[in-house]
Amino acid sequence: MAATACGRQAWRQLMRNSCRGPAATPSKLLRQQQPYRLAFQRQTSSTTRTTPSSLLRQQPLAQRSYSSGSQGGQQTPPPRSSNSQIKFWPFVVLIALGSGGYMLLINRRKTMPPTTQTTPAFSPSEVTVLFVLGGPGAGKGTQCARLVRDYQFTHLSAGDLLREEQDRPGSQYGQLIKDCIKNGEIVPMEVTIALLENAMRDTITRTGNKKFLIDGFPRKMDQALKFEEVVCPAKLVLFYDCPEAEMEKRLLERGKTSGRADDNAESIRKRFRTFVETSMPVVHHYEAENRVVKVISTPPPDQVYADTQVQLKKALGDKF
Ligand code: UDP
Ligand code: MG
Repeated sequence: MAATACGRQAWRQLMRNSCRGPAATPSKLLRQQQPYRLAFQRQTSSTTRTTPSSLLRQQPLAQRSYSSGSQGGQQTPPPRSSNSQIKFWPFVVLIALGSGGYMLLINRRKTMPPTTQTTPAFSPSEVTVLFVLGGPGAGKGTQCARLVRDYQFTHLSAGDLLREEQDRPGSQYGQLIKDCIKNGEIVPMEVTIALLENAMRDTITRTGNKKFLIDGFPRKMDQALKFEEVVCPAKLVLFYDCPEAEMEKRLLERGKTSGRADDNAESIRKRFRTFVETSMPVVHHYEAENRVVKVISTPPPDQVYADTQVQLKKALGDKF
């Protein structure tokens, strides 16, 4: 029930936003939402119109009469050949013009770029993005901290950014994020993607660092596709694989001190279900594209990190 309520609230919130338009959203978030809407808009135009006068012009100018000139009450129809010639030629001209116009249109379309194509905000040749995935408690955050220390990545945790936005005074997404996190549900992608893109832009402007570990994202296929389309294609996915029993043990332990609203037995159960049903398809999607580096994360952190380094070097070379 609570899960459905969160979904309903998310939907209402997004609908309100799209109805209110720019002024209603925080300016940062809004700037990101605009292109999505534009991409889906269709232009319609009508260039030909049928007016009463144009219809009138198509009427015969005079009624034909077969009564005049008849002999002995018999009607003589006009010669058939001249009549059929008059009807035939306009059709030929119309078909020729129509086909010519159609061919011209097709040829022009071939040379035009597709109108719905979006260029990502950051080029993957300049900006490195590694997605870091794994179940709740798989050890993503712990491993990211080590990679930041040794390879100068900037660590962006989607969950941390959402919690920050939730606590930001005046955020209109606060309650929505709170409900989703508590229920182990995925926050609507527009919010998360906007937060990530803004954080990346801020980092590049402030520090010039263009290497990012994006932790705990994408958790759903739509997020993955949209992020790579509008923000930046990822170089690869670092996937930490851990059995549920081990993850549960870690989360319950962490819950004693973390203060997180979702580190309790009930939320953990929901998060596991979301992970299996919604997030694992994302991992499988990237596996099919050969873009996944998988590391078993049951051993102690140092051992997992050593394996992470070996695997990343194999995939990206020594200087990743
Ligand atoms: N979350 C989300 N979208 C994301 C990432 C996180 O909606 O892209 C929400 C989701 O409710 C998740 C919670 O944030 O359960 C906590 O995410 P976090 O990554 O902090 O959890 P972890 O996997 O590290 O335990
Ligand atoms: Mg985490």
